[in-house]
Amino acid sequence: MIDRFGRVATDLRVSLTDRCNLRCTYCMPADGLEWMPRADMLTDDEVGRLVRIAVERLGVTNIRFTGGEPTLRKGFTEIIARAAALAPRPRLSMTTNAIGLESRADGLAAAGLDRINVSLDTLRPDRFAALTRRDRLPDVLAGLAAAQAAGLTPVKVNSVLVRGQNDDEAVPLLRFCLDRGYRLRFIEQMPLDAQHGWNRAEMITAAEILAALRAEFDLTPSPSPRGAAPAERWLVDGGPGEVGVIASVTRPFCGDCDRTRLTADGQVRNCLFSQTETDLRGLLRAGADDDEIAERWRVAMWGKLAGHAINEAGFAQPLRPMSAIGG
Ligand code: SAM
Ligand code: SF4
Repeated sequence: MIDRFGRVATDLRVSLTDRCNLRCTYCMPADGLEWMPRADMLTDDEVGRLVRIAVERLGVTNIRFTGGEPTLRKGFTEIIARAAALAPRPRLSMTTNAIGLESRADGLAAAGLDRINVSLDTLRPDRFAALTRRDRLPDVLAGLAAAQAAGLTPVKVNSVLVRGQNDDEAVPLLRFCLDRGYRLRFIEQMPLDAQHGWNRAEMITAAEILAALRAEFDLTPSPSPRGAAPAERWLVDGGPGEVGVIASVTRPFCGDCDRTRLTADGQVRNCLFSQTETDLRGLLRAGADDDEIAERWRVAMWGKLAGHAINEAGFAQPLRPMSAIGG
């Protein structure tokens, strides 16, 4: 799936639900959102078919399941198992808040999940409760440990720093991850919250994060190639420990993007920030064959724009929030 700028999409993000058991302030309002009607959501079989088409016909080699909270999807383990049975076997990962993972990590690994990214923004229970509006930090820590024990490695941790809330935790979060062998990546806050409350001046930038880390650690650029990975990586105190920063806003990496996205209601998005979507659910339910679906998906990717334009005048936030796109 090539686009007109020569980028080839091999990395598929599949959102399995827009629902979530947390309410992170930078993602969702306290009352949640109006969830997608069940009838609009792809069934497990429909997800399985689209994933198969992506792998067998469109050259997708990596699949990440996300949401909302992907572990809330009932058929999740079976969806993983089906994807793992495809040839060529795609690499399978998921992004999760890790709630409930403690009891499920072994089963997911057995089904074929290879790796995991866990979102964790603070190590302080009171702040966790304020940032996510749920008092669940112990569940997340237990989920992380279970993922490591189950071999869902390397376990990566994603952290968003929010000014005045957890922006003094860059160093403690890195120490926590280094001690346990987790790979930490900080993510700049993006204008993708459902409340449209993002404010550039409030965002903690990559430069600020690096300055805070450099006060405590010696950071040198990682020698391993970045490729299409969104994170810029640094060796910490000479390695082998590393830290990454995903500077989507201040250092965009759109020129190397290899992503294609499928929402839980069967829409292809060629970018997180896209203003348009391509409906595969309607095509699928109208009886289209695999060739037709693959062709529609290819056309959707061909139309991908050069970049997200967050830093340009006239930028408009997409209608869907991150939780309904699949972060
Ligand atoms: N619920 C799962 C989780 O939190 O890991 C998966 C979905 S969540 C939308 C995926 C990632 O997006 C999380 O790491 C979260 O911190 C991040 N995220 C959510 N809203 C964001 C925003 N406005 N800017 C940057 N990252 C955001
Ligand atoms: Fe849920 Fe993830 Fe959004 Fe937090 S960031 S509210 S865990 S979807």
